[in-house]
Amino acid sequence: MALEQYAGDMGMCCRCSACKFVPMQKVKGSDYSYVCPSIAKYNFHAYSGGGRMNIGTAAVKNGMNYTDRLLDVVYNCQMCGACDVSCKYAMDMEVLEPISEFRMKCNEDGKTNAALDKVIAGLRKTGSMVPAKGKRGAWAAGLGIKDATKEKVDVLFHVGCLTSFDPEMQKLAKATARILEKAGVSFGIAGDAETCCGGRAYQMGYKDDFLAQAKKNMALIKKCGAKTLVTGCADGYQAFKVLYDKYDLKGKLEVLHISEYIDKLIKDGKLKPRKKVNLSVTYHDPCRLGRLGEPWIHWEGTKVPGDRFVFDPPKEYRRGAKGIYEPPRDVIKSIPGVKLTEMTRIKEYAWCCGAGGGVNESNPEFATWTAQKRIDEAVSTGAEAIVTACPWCEKTLNEAIKASGSSLKVYDIVELVEKAI
Ligand code: SF4
Ligand code: SF4
Repeated sequence: MALEQYAGDMGMCCRCSACKFVPMQKVKGSDYSYVCPSIAKYNFHAYSGGGRMNIGTAAVKNGMNYTDRLLDVVYNCQMCGACDVSCKYAMDMEVLEPISEFRMKCNEDGKTNAALDKVIAGLRKTGSMVPAKGKRGAWAAGLGIKDATKEKVDVLFHVGCLTSFDPEMQKLAKATARILEKAGVSFGIAGDAETCCGGRAYQMGYKDDFLAQAKKNMALIKKCGAKTLVTGCADGYQAFKVLYDKYDLKGKLEVLHISEYIDKLIKDGKLKPRKKVNLSVTYHDPCRLGRLGEPWIHWEGTKVPGDRFVFDPPKEYRRGAKGIYEPPRDVIKSIPGVKLTEMTRIKEYAWCCGAGGGVNESNPEFATWTAQKRIDEAVSTGAEAIVTACPWCEKTLNEAIKASGSSLKVYDIVELVEKAI
């Protein structure tokens, strides 16, 4: 879909600014009322979802007029989708889709960001979104994990770039493998043959690189013969589950996030968290597991003539409510000794960790600023630790903790489960 196809949606924007905040009907106070990191940080309308609709409308009418300020607006956005769900609380219009198309248009016109170009050059060379030092499957050496490219398995565990290559995040891959083994799951990894899901390239605006990665992955999955794919990374989850489906590449593949899969294993009696873990925690919903993890809706129809944007058949909008919210919470609650206290901005109105949309790479100071706001919110609950379900969140939240000197701990959900089994 090109930007022009969202002209009607962008033109619907009434400049109400609802996309900047948790919906009025849900907000609990002036603290933690913003949902959009970009407007909260830069405090100028162009940086909000609505501002981006107005810029998009002008671009469709008058053509692209690139300036440094315009590109600053484009690349200082986590593509977190919070504006989209807040707007849709009252409106029937797409917000994140045109924002995404606008970035892809910048990419097509060669108006890219140097830091993101560097990451994509690495992806093209190594199949990884993070520096690939050593072999992708090296973390699994000596663990006896099946090679899914050689042995038939029921479940393919897609480890992801950060978890595979970052020495501090490999603990998540090992914890996941131990949990799946303990539950008796027939699973394997693709090891050195695994490649990036392409999701982060998509967020950054490099659609062709995303599609190339998606096609490589689907060919690999076909070769492995696994019917179910489990991912521990929220970006990977959104890519395989939602984006591959959007581009008709997913087929019948079942895609589960590890938190969903663990929840199922516990509820089926295959995994029993018995050991007590005395810890008070709060839970951070990763954007791409929560609101952006909502399944894609394929819709075709026509616009009914008239001023108001109405379709025949009626268009069903993705409003973020069908993301993965309860499974990780049920897993946390199943661990003896763990006490869960919720933050103010949760589920579809969760505040982003800051890492999305390439901001982590193009403007790390903004990514850490965003994560710091989440740490402040987590600390306000009185919890000792913040639990998340994505290595990118864990890494970014940890960076904010280091910068601020907070004593809050960060855990991925698999680390917590591993302590309890
Ligand atoms: S994008 Fe939606 S919420 Fe934001 S100003 Fe426009 S109409 Fe209002
Ligand atoms: S996608 Fe996120 S950061 Fe970008 S405008 Fe929307 S709410 Fe703000």
